[in-house]
Amino acid sequence: MVLELDERTGNLFEIYEIAGIFEITGNRESVDLPTFTPTTVLLTPPGRGAVATLLFDGPVALIDAAGLFRAANGKPLAEQAVDVVVFGRWGAEPGEEVVLCRTSETTLEIHCHGGQAARQAIAGDLERLGAPPCDPWEYIERTDGVFARMAARGLAMAPTPRTAASITHQTHGPLRDELIRMADKTTSTEEMSAIIERLLAWETFGVHLIEPWQVVLFGRPNVGKSSLMNRLAGFERAIVLDVPGTTRDLVTTEIALDGWPIRLTDTAGLRDRADELELSGIERARSRIASADLRILVLDRAAPPQDEELELLRTSTAPLVVANKVDQRDAWGTALPPEAIPLSARTGEGVDELMTRILERLVPLVPSAETPVAFDREQIATLHAARRALAQGDEESARQRVRAIAPKNPSA
Ligand code: GDP
Repeated sequence: MVLELDERTGNLFEIYEIAGIFEITGNRESVDLPTFTPTTVLLTPPGRGAVATLLFDGPVALIDAAGLFRAANGKPLAEQAVDVVVFGRWGAEPGEEVVLCRTSETTLEIHCHGGQAARQAIAGDLERLGAPPCDPWEYIERTDGVFARMAARGLAMAPTPRTAASITHQTHGPLRDELIRMADKTTSTEEMSAIIERLLAWETFGVHLIEPWQVVLFGRPNVGKSSLMNRLAGFERAIVLDVPGTTRDLVTTEIALDGWPIRLTDTAGLRDRADELELSGIERARSRIASADLRILVLDRAAPPQDEELELLRTSTAPLVVANKVDQRDAWGTALPPEAIPLSARTGEGVDELMTRILERLVPLVPSAETPVAFDREQIATLHAARRALAQGDEESARQRVRAIAPKNPSA
């Protein structure tokens, strides 16, 4: 690759020369770039925090040559031992206090103050040294492959310790092993097909290791939906009011039942006669109800059944029915569906039973430790594509697709 020298790249080359990384001989107008590409990666999430961590991938001699870091122990970075933490100052005097650690011969972690300014200044210095910023996922994919990127992203996105543990188990165990097996050309078409079917059998479960299950609470206004949601969430999230129809929009909260992530949505009251403001909320509620993994129809057992409620009972697809307000007199009698779960959002009675029933519906089976589970939508889409290719008799294409998402280095 040939680079045109301008003021900036000219300075950059001088630093490379001083650092002894390469020597510029002959015509400075056309210089071959070194084969490595230094990179800077922000490892901590964007935004402010207590500490920010940047990863520099490249020769640390560059940083020494540019005089960017002064270690408290007086040694240049190139002489600091790997895996040892070094305290010092970064940038022009007095400089930013930082803690550095060479994590390998070519990688350096820089821990600085978590505000925007320190991180941007350091990233800017590194970019001027020829190490442009790179998205963390892209960096992982570039260095360790697609599978490593999916594993790291899955772990970062896992909403609960239980789902994080499942993803870690899969990426070190069954999923990893099965992808390697399928990528291997000695695995027969029949075996490959069987593995794909086994993996896709857990498709729905798998995506919920990252994306919470969607559960909506619906029913007439004032039956106690917001109160029940607060009970399940354990804190005041939705505003509870006595006036019908006051939950004008969708209120969402995330909870974990038995370690499984669940996004609860409280819908606006479904009413025939609603003002304009409520109508948009009702529309949103309808589509959320339709797309949910589980619908909970809340009935008010303390008030006589209303036509609207009976209609909802008739027309809703497989809802879990809750008879709320059992701390008050029963106004339904035999009209109440026998499967309805009696509870009181006010006293908490029956809420444990509801939680058990929610789990029975969402997670009827938990895969055994040996079962491979794909958790990333890209993995699942690839498995579907490979299945289609096999159905068309194109084993080569199926194998290529699987190879693209399989671990890069099976022996690692
Ligand atoms: P929503 O409109 O369906 O969301 O209903 P809310 O949760 O706002 O509750 C409406 C009213 O019913 C409020 O005054 C609540 O305190 C009351 N309420 C809710 N659950 C219960 C319950 O289990 N027992 C009794 N007695 N009152 C309840």
